[in-house]
Amino acid sequence: MMPSFAAGVIKFQRDVFPEKKALFEKLSQGQAPEALFITCSDSRIETGMITQTDPGELFVCRNPGNIVPPYKIDAGGVTASIEFAVEVLNVQHIIICGHTDCGAVQGAEHPEAVAHLHHVSEWLSFASEAVRRVRAKDGDAVEDKEVHLKHITQENVVLQLENLAGHPAVKRRMDDGTLQIHGWVYDIALGQVFVLDQDEKTFIPIEVKYADRLPSAD
Ligand SMILES: [Zn+2]
Repeated sequence: MMPSFAAGVIKFQRDVFPEKKALFEKLSQGQAPEALFITCSDSRIETGMITQTDPGELFVCRNPGNIVPPYKIDAGGVTASIEFAVEVLNVQHIIICGHTDCGAVQGAEHPEAVAHLHHVSEWLSFASEAVRRVRAKDGDAVEDKEVHLKHITQENVVLQLENLAGHPAVKRRMDDGTLQIHGWVYDIALGQVFVLDQDEKTFIPIEVKYADRLPSAD
């Protein structure tokens, strides 16, 4: 039997591509995405679906735990994606999007469970500061594990935003007022996105955040 992803390409070519031919013709000439979207590799996150954007609108960078390593000269793919998006594509927004039930966040919370996975352990150490901060706030005797995990997931987004703002190109564009950075947590069960309110340091539903700019329901 054909793998579902291969059958999907054939369906795409037959049904979807002809319908959007004009869009793909335009896109074949180049891209001008509005945002860099940094999120987890988790299979349950569909960036185009949850943001209802077309191809060409989001420059996407994914890795386990939606991590942005602290800036240094010899950093890897995440840093290169940020540099290219900010310096060349001139994106106006960067979103860091965490999510519920994140295996990477759980691995950061319990490093002993992933100790045998050398590369995973090393990568998730970039999130360990978020675990430390939440433990200091929630205390050791955590009563509600789910709430505790939610707090770590949110704090990890805050931590990675801090690392992002430490990238020289990002900092310069933010200082110029030409780049905004956003922290999101996508709730898989609710289909809801919670957005970091930078002033209040809390996560609020996206429709609350943009309440004054909502499109009409029809
Ligand atoms: Zn994840």
